[in-house]
Amino acid sequence: MAGAPAGVVIVGGGLAGAWLALELRALGAVVTLIDAAPADGTASATAISYGLIPGWPLAPTPLARMAAGASRRWRRLQRRHGPLGWRRCALRLQGSNRWLSALARLGLLPLAQVDTTVLHQRLPAVLLNAGVKRYTATVQAMAPAARGWQLQLSDGSACQADQLVLAAGAGCGRLWPALPQTLCSSWASVLELQAFPAALGAPAAWLPQGFARLGLERRAPELLEPAWVVDPGLVPWGRGALVGQHTWIAAAGAAAPAAADGCEPPLRQAFPTVGAARLRQAAVAFSSSGAPLVGAVEATPGLWLFTGFSGAFAQVPVLAPLLAQRLAGPADRAHQAERRLQQLGVWPQGG
Ligand SMILES: Cc1cc2nc3c(=O)[nH]c(=O)nc-3n(C[C@H](O)[C@H](O)[C@H](O)COP(=O)(O)OP(=O)(O)OC[C@H]3O[C@@H](n4cnc5c(N)ncnc54)[C@H](O)[C@@H]3O)c2cc1C
Repeated sequence: MAGAPAGVVIVGGGLAGAWLALELRALGAVVTLIDAAPADGTASATAISYGLIPGWPLAPTPLARMAAGASRRWRRLQRRHGPLGWRRCALRLQGSNRWLSALARLGLLPLAQVDTTVLHQRLPAVLLNAGVKRYTATVQAMAPAARGWQLQLSDGSACQADQLVLAAGAGCGRLWPALPQTLCSSWASVLELQAFPAALGAPAAWLPQGFARLGLERRAPELLEPAWVVDPGLVPWGRGALVGQHTWIAAAGAAAPAAADGCEPPLRQAFPTVGAARLRQAAVAFSSSGAPLVGAVEATPGLWLFTGFSGAFAQVPVLAPLLAQRLAGPADRAHQAERRLQQLGVWPQGG
């Protein structure tokens, strides 16, 4: 990286880092986004996400109520920057609660989806056009400097930041271990089909009524040994589909491996009729409390967190504008944004 960018540096160019960068540019901030190249056989969580956005609150919380309106923000973003993959999506719910399944069939549970093949392909140009400086490199180390932060990158260069935002998903903990202990990570594995199964009719999201993954995430801090679950699900994705989600979590306190071997056999066993399909894997950050981590890192001036989402495609669109205001808005707006983030219960508490 040539020179030393001033302003806000964001580490991580998945959905969280990219949306925050666009919000900061809309406020006129100087923004640099540093994103690692995908490692062999793995992707960012954003790149292989189902990208679903429920149009109803998934919990009785103010954040969930706000997140239920996220599709409006996606449509606004698309009007400003062109197609990003957002579309309405038919829902087929599988499970014993017939009422829920009937509500879904009648279209009373409105669902949207961001086709992440489109998002992944379009984001680099959108960021460039918005004036975000984007670098492909891994941040290997970071340290407080006389003014702001100093970063060491994998290409041998260094970079300065006035404000530094960690939006690196499962990579955040490796960069700065003193983060809230609720921030955890899992390995997700899915199967990629080349075509949407003709037997299922028109493309729709076929989902279970509940996800075992969510229960496992809540138990993550107490796990004495690694644990995994498989959730049945099938969604349209590009010209094909994504099938299933195998979620693997390391024992509490253990370092997560660089790749999760052994996830493929249980996933294929759960979907024996799928046939030829490619395995796709990603490390995913989550918060064991269920509340994302959005705000200042305690006792570490100039360091911010934007990660740990439980429904990033609905939560990031409502939280990124608030964090952007806190970082780059005028003093009164910044103060209001911080209060709002606290009221929403996402401001990190302690390290
Ligand atoms: C199979 C699957 C299905 C899902 N379905 C849904 C869904 O339907 N709806 C929903 O809302 N959410 C869903 N999720 C979750 C959602 O995809 C993630 O929460 C979201 O994409 C996280 O985005 P992020 O930007 O925080 O992290 P990521 O997408 O993981 O991005 C982090 C980025 O940081 C980079 N990085 C890491 N370390 C460094 C470093 N040291 N230097 C530079 N760069 C670094 C990584 O390369 C990566 O590009 C799903 C996830 C999976 C895996």
